[in-house]
Amino acid sequence: MHASLLVGGIEAGGTKFVCAVGTAPDDIRAEVRFPTTTPAETLAHAITFFQEQQACYGQLGAIGVAAFGPADPHPASPTYGYITTTPKPGWQHTNVAGMLGAALGVPIAFDTDVNGAALGEHRWGAAQDVATFIYLTIGTGVGGGVMVNGSLLHGLVHPELGHIRLPRDPAADPYAGHCPFHGDCLEGLTCGPALAVRWGVPAQHLSPEHPAWALQAHYLALALQSFICTLSPQRIIMGGGVMAQPHLLPMIRTNVQRYLNGYIQAAALQEGGLADYIVAPRLGNQAGVLGAIALAQQALPAAHA
Ligand code: ADP
Ligand code: ZN
Repeated sequence: MHASLLVGGIEAGGTKFVCAVGTAPDDIRAEVRFPTTTPAETLAHAITFFQEQQACYGQLGAIGVAAFGPADPHPASPTYGYITTTPKPGWQHTNVAGMLGAALGVPIAFDTDVNGAALGEHRWGAAQDVATFIYLTIGTGVGGGVMVNGSLLHGLVHPELGHIRLPRDPAADPYAGHCPFHGDCLEGLTCGPALAVRWGVPAQHLSPEHPAWALQAHYLALALQSFICTLSPQRIIMGGGVMAQPHLLPMIRTNVQRYLNGYIQAAALQEGGLADYIVAPRLGNQAGVLGAIALAQQALPAAHA
């Protein structure tokens, strides 16, 4: 990696955009954050920022976009770089990469927000020593980025880890779920808005003793068991606003060990109560934009990458 060639990164989130220019966590030259409004207004804001930066620093090597989705991350596809069937009003079928590339004249690397975050954690954060792992976010929605043998996984479209089905006991949890497509899928049961509707208060106002958290740790551990059995990840990173509850991660670790029931023989699953296996992100609130910068660096010509 040629660390000094300047690149741009855009964390294109459903509620906010973060744009930055730099090369690494300790080398962010400029950053701006603004709310996500209409595509035209939001992308114009991003373009203005990068035009100003290019006037100052010269042409950027590439710009990485880590976008909310569903989105099209396949370079050979006619809709590469589009946000596609998103429920977010006004953003369906928006050619994000095309508009940015045309306005700024630089290559655009485009992937999902969670794949970007996974790449950032791999380069600078909690997954530097592993090549197959998952980055999950439990926030407004639930999503997961996946790296397999050192490459981000796309496949058919891209993984949608938030929409797997989980067993729900309607007697214990009558809430039918928040997902507009599936009701009580993983996202439908565990995203922040689902907690707010199920319990009648925003998730951040539920006390640590509230039964919400035992149920949350149960569902998340069921999901993790499925991911562990399917992908054999060497680590699972769990971020997003809901994971800001410090007691949640230890509860999830305990449940995962119980639910796997000793079946998978791996040191990481036997030792230390999974403390090094199911972990928090290390890049904090810059994870998204750093992931986007890492995506841009992947797209640099071979001489610089
Ligand atoms: P987004 O998913 O939109 O990028 P976040 O990851 O910040 O944003 O997730 C926002 C969700 O996280 C909201 O539903 C909010 O209620 C929830 N949340 C934020 N802070 C906390 C907290 N301290 N404890 C539990 N839930 C929280
Ligand atoms: Zn769903």
